[in-house]
Amino acid sequence: MNTKQSPIKISATDANQRFSRLLAESEQGHEVVITRRGKPVARLQSIHQPKSETHDIGSPIDSGIPDFEIRRELIAYCRKMNDVGLNQGTSGNASARVSGGLLITPSGLDYERTEPVDIVKVDMEGKVLRGHRNPSSEWHFHCRVMAAKPKAGALLHTHSINATTLACLGRDIPPFHYMVAVGGGRDIRCAPYATFGTEKLADAVLEALEGRIACLMANHGMIVLGRDIDDAFKRAVEIETLAAQYLKALSIGKPQLLTVGEMNVVLEKFKSYSAWADPKR
Ligand SMILES: [Zn+2]
Repeated sequence: MNTKQSPIKISATDANQRFSRLLAESEQGHEVVITRRGKPVARLQSIHQPKSETHDIGSPIDSGIPDFEIRRELIAYCRKMNDVGLNQGTSGNASARVSGGLLITPSGLDYERTEPVDIVKVDMEGKVLRGHRNPSSEWHFHCRVMAAKPKAGALLHTHSINATTLACLGRDIPPFHYMVAVGGGRDIRCAPYATFGTEKLADAVLEALEGRIACLMANHGMIVLGRDIDDAFKRAVEIETLAAQYLKALSIGKPQLLTVGEMNVVLEKFKSYSAWADPKR
């Protein structure tokens, strides 16, 4: 799908004056990239060459942006969260650790419209280092949690239906099933409620994540850490599944819980089972 020709790069100010010519160029199949201070900010694309519908994120010409592949991956997994029903619309967000800070999804932008250049780089205090958009409103907990868990490479936050239903009941996920260990411990705690986007929420989340890599947030959703974004995504799918199973079990009776000893055996086994090896180690 990529053209062999190099793209026509033009600054935003010049592009205004030459817009019709650029449109014509793009209709002929040339790629036109509009830049601001050397950074790509927009791309003209011929309507006769529609982008493939899903997971077509940016193009190789954007690869001048630092950590381009990680930006693409973050967007791909956010879209995947929506595709598999883990998340809806623009709620939920994701971050990945890079040299010097975090890459985080922007605030209030539909993932289908998000491009690698829209991903924001922040330092561990939340200061924007690079980007033309605001970082996710949940940057407080992304920064605080990722600073506290240096082995984690990525953090996903979603409002998935079943995990959020339990969170609205203020319930932890107890060891009713051994897979609870994907959250890094014997249970998955629910952090007490605090307003979204606040430091108070970050405090509550950090406490619930003590010795864990996943938690619920009361009346809000879930947070999952992973070695990388793919690992965090897989854990999020498992936790959403666990939440559905737990709700179903609760609807019929009182689920049988595994003992501390039984869960310790599982946690020990997970250490050597690469799929679920905990990023804390
Ligand atoms: Zn949220």
